[in-house]
Amino acid sequence: MKKQPEFNSLPDYHLHTILCKHAEGDIADYRKAARTQNIPEICFSDHCPNPDGYDPAHRMEMKKFETYSDMVSRVQDGEPPAVLFGIEADYYEGCEAFLREWLPAQQFDLVLGSVHYIEGWGFDNPAQRHVWDSVDVNETWRKYFELVGRLVDSGLFDAVGHLDLPKKFGFRPNDKELKEMAKPVLDRIAKGGMGMELNTSGIRRPVGEIYPSPLIVSMACEREIPICFGSDAHRPGEVGAEFDPALNLAKEAGYTHYFRIRGRTKELIPLPETLSV
Ligand code: ZN
Ligand code: FE
Ligand code: FE
Ligand code: ZN
Repeated sequence: MKKQPEFNSLPDYHLHTILCKHAEGDIADYRKAARTQNIPEICFSDHCPNPDGYDPAHRMEMKKFETYSDMVSRVQDGEPPAVLFGIEADYYEGCEAFLREWLPAQQFDLVLGSVHYIEGWGFDNPAQRHVWDSVDVNETWRKYFELVGRLVDSGLFDAVGHLDLPKKFGFRPNDKELKEMAKPVLDRIAKGGMGMELNTSGIRRPVGEIYPSPLIVSMACEREIPICFGSDAHRPGEVGAEFDPALNLAKEAGYTHYFRIRGRTKELIPLPETLSV
């Protein structure tokens, strides 16, 4: 039996906190913002700390993890919206050993897996945007999907975050090329029982569209890859942002359900007709 939707709203599974050094606002205000939009549940999925010195500028220190866990549990008070505890963990060369031990030792509800770097290049970082002018776009995307493929095969993550992030500044392959590149990765996501995030932050970026694109969302739907929704909010005002177009994107691709997660176990829920605020 599949559950009926209890709100005309969708959970927001991708929220950051001040601990990652590039977000702002009180965690209680993120939750307040969700409550005013009738969002049934939210998940903090801040950038994962790494002990090996990986990208320290954009993530919490290892020693701040307990603060993170405390901050989130302080707003887990039984009042709506429900608050889940998650993490956005980067996949990069050599990350597995640590993550394989550490992730299961935490009480996470959701682990998003993301790729933000290709061979040391922060390809979605505005300060490193100029690099796009001197690389082969298709080759770069191929390398990106190769990394995402390894992310999937590691089996460490519950869902892939912002699957076509390299389009952020508008550099992208044509549909035919994209289809060829994305197909094997989507096959592996489906085979691994992983989910995929519809991340609305792309609308706020130069590309001006949700990650991933309608083509990829349709291909994911054909493979019955379960989806969730994330604003990637880095401030309270971004919670639930652009969820109307995200719901439309999911439906136009053929989706009828999305997943909710608890303790890293997914459950399928019917998509609401519309979002009412
Ligand atoms: Zn961030
Ligand atoms: Fe990310
Ligand atoms: Fe994020
Ligand atoms: Zn993110």
